[in-house]
Amino acid sequence: MSFTETEEQQALRAAVAQLGAKYGYAYSSAKARADQSQDELWAEAGQLGYLGVNLPEEYGGGGQGMYELAIVEEELSAAGCGLLMMVVSPAICGTVITRFGTDEQKGRWLPGLADGSSIMAFGITEPDAGSNSHKITTTARRDGTDWLLSGQKVFISGVDVADNVLIVCRTEDARTGTLKPVLLVVPTDSPGFEKTKIDMDLVAPDNQYQLFMEDVRLPADALVGEEDAAIAQLFAGLNPERIMASAYAVGMGCYALDKGAGYAKERTVWGGKPIGTHQGIAHPLAVAHIELELAKLMMQKAATLYDAGLDIEAGEAANMAKYAAGEAGVKAVDTAVHTHGGNGLASEYGLGTLIAASRLMRIAPVSREMILNFVAQHSLGLPKSY
Ligand SMILES: Cc1cc2nc3c(=O)[nH]c(=O)nc-3n(C[C@H](O)[C@H](O)[C@H](O)COP(=O)(O)OP(=O)(O)OC[C@H]3O[C@@H](n4cnc5c(N)ncnc54)[C@H](O)[C@@H]3O)c2cc1C
Repeated sequence: MSFTETEEQQALRAAVAQLGAKYGYAYSSAKARADQSQDELWAEAGQLGYLGVNLPEEYGGGGQGMYELAIVEEELSAAGCGLLMMVVSPAICGTVITRFGTDEQKGRWLPGLADGSSIMAFGITEPDAGSNSHKITTTARRDGTDWLLSGQKVFISGVDVADNVLIVCRTEDARTGTLKPVLLVVPTDSPGFEKTKIDMDLVAPDNQYQLFMEDVRLPADALVGEEDAAIAQLFAGLNPERIMASAYAVGMGCYALDKGAGYAKERTVWGGKPIGTHQGIAHPLAVAHIELELAKLMMQKAATLYDAGLDIEAGEAANMAKYAAGEAGVKAVDTAVHTHGGNGLASEYGLGTLIAASRLMRIAPVSREMILNFVAQHSLGLPKSY
């Protein structure tokens, strides 16, 4: 076991941090307030090979793993300009296609995902199923060799910038009972595919959509993986999602903590001493730092296990990392805002928008309660209550 990163990983971290510094929070929040996505940053990160660092080299990727992709997300987020769609496009969709797609499908989709010229959104959440994915009703039925897809999805990020959405649905003959997921790549310009933007009280550059699909006709090879896919096929993509969400939350927490500690060193209100002299200010910042470091360690363990091909072990670690990072991120943002007093809510100080944004990492992609349920049942062997 090594607690030091390789020279290549350190170089990647430094290079991405440099790119993050070029854009930063000011860029990201200006884009969010103008209701625009971070196109320039996305394009540059793609050209530099950062978006596809985990994807196979033969399809234009970097041939590295989730550890490296998490470095990219963490560093951009720590600069105040994390890319939410990285959690989805290269991490979930890129991984699922790499692991279960045919050579033809890999050739069709992976090069665009790797250089960022094409974005694939991911849709599993449904209005009436919520956290209980076993209840999803979006259904694909055969029509000759084609598929006809009908159903609804909600809170799907980035559909406006995506060419395709990887939709999790079930086949017609499996409408009830245990979920046997089927994964279909659906072009966003398909007839019968409609999206409606959801008004969110988040100041963030990515939009969320409700999707309505009515007999969307798809060719047979829209299906990625097996028709009777094991749930493992879905989790091959969801574990990277949890690792990347952890990286996003840890990075955001580090961004906020950096600002909080910086302010505590400068701001003086009593006797010429900076407020950071007072332990009532210093200790919460120190706690936030410790908890971010712990969350990062678990995220790195999860990524290392995943890259070693240990899916089951990575699943447990990715859940724990996501829980820890979500909590640590929220606490770091809250502490940094509080350290700033009134300025914590002034736009100039670049923190207020993170109050809602950091909470997202407690809710999505899997809520803290569902992680606690998972750990209670799988790690501790406790009975299921629902
Ligand atoms: C900004 C944003 C972006 C998103 N992007 C995507 C995306 O790109 N693709 C996608 O598919 N989804 C996306 N989601 C959806 C997200 O994954 C869900 O919101 C999340 O999984 C929770 O589901 P829900 O909102 O239906 O909550 P619900 O399932 O209705 O749960 C409500 C509350 O009850 C709790 N709860 C539910 N069941 C239990 C239980 N058994 N025990 C204890 N507590 C429980 C939950 O933890 C939660 O706190 C996004 C959501 C947001 C807010």
